[in-house]
Amino acid sequence: MNIITLTAPAICAGCGKQVPASAQARSYLGGKIYHMPDEEKRLTARTTAPAPQAPQDINYLEQALLAYIEQMQLALANLRERIRTRR
Ligand SMILES: [Zn+2]
Repeated sequence: MNIITLTAPAICAGCGKQVPASAQARSYLGGKIYHMPDEEKRLTARTTAPAPQAPQDINYLEQALLAYIEQMQLALANLRERIRTRR
């Protein structure tokens, strides 16, 4: 294994991402190019980090309660409308 400085962009054989020109890379027999270990770690960490979660920590009961309240609001609006149009 050699540490080389790329003269042109290359595809890392480890993660499939590009190693930019003028970056250092690990070069193996057969022409395979790999990111430097630190770079590889950074890239891998970024791609395997859990996707940012939408604020969905509302549990099932809370969701059911919200749905119920929304239904009640709709029913209330319908009732108000029926009372209003009765006169
Ligand atoms: Zn890589």
